[in-house]
Amino acid sequence: MTATPDIPAQLLDRPRAGGLVVPWFTPATASGAYLFGKIGDLSQYRCLTRSLCQVCGRRLGERAVLFARESDLVHGCTAEPALCPPCAAYRCRACPMLVGRRQHYRAGERPALAGIPLAADQLLRQAAPAEPWYVVWIGDYDVIDHPSQPGTLAASWQRIPPLRIRALATA
Ligand SMILES: [Zn+2]
Repeated sequence: MTATPDIPAQLLDRPRAGGLVVPWFTPATASGAYLFGKIGDLSQYRCLTRSLCQVCGRRLGERAVLFARESDLVHGCTAEPALCPPCAAYRCRACPMLVGRRQHYRAGERPALAGIPLAADQLLRQAAPAEPWYVVWIGDYDVIDHPSQPGTLAASWQRIPPLRIRALATA
């Protein structure tokens, strides 16, 4: 049993599942089950277009973080909305994909049953080996149509150079 990571004060009022904070943009089924690792179209749209943090749902400040896979670096964008620094630090401690506890993406899930169709990038990622993650520090981003996933919005750092990009050390 892994110890529950410390939860930042701003996230104490968020719902939790298995001891972990449920991110603001995580979709839920009609019965209230959370679909971790899924990107809900509406909440993704709201986060990206209103500059909201994907975890706490608050407006991003002067610096924010995008978590990117190697394949995202190629395009200079990611479909995952940005995070405020405290939420990013929490997610580094808590997210099973980021901390290396899960080696593969979930396979065989049926989110369509919950009324949430799989996004194109989820189909590509299903059961694929987990890629290394990178932390992209940004001051701002553009919302674009993802170059390899038409119809999917993405946060892009192509036009606005990121402050820093570093590999995320995993356990
Ligand atoms: Zn946040």
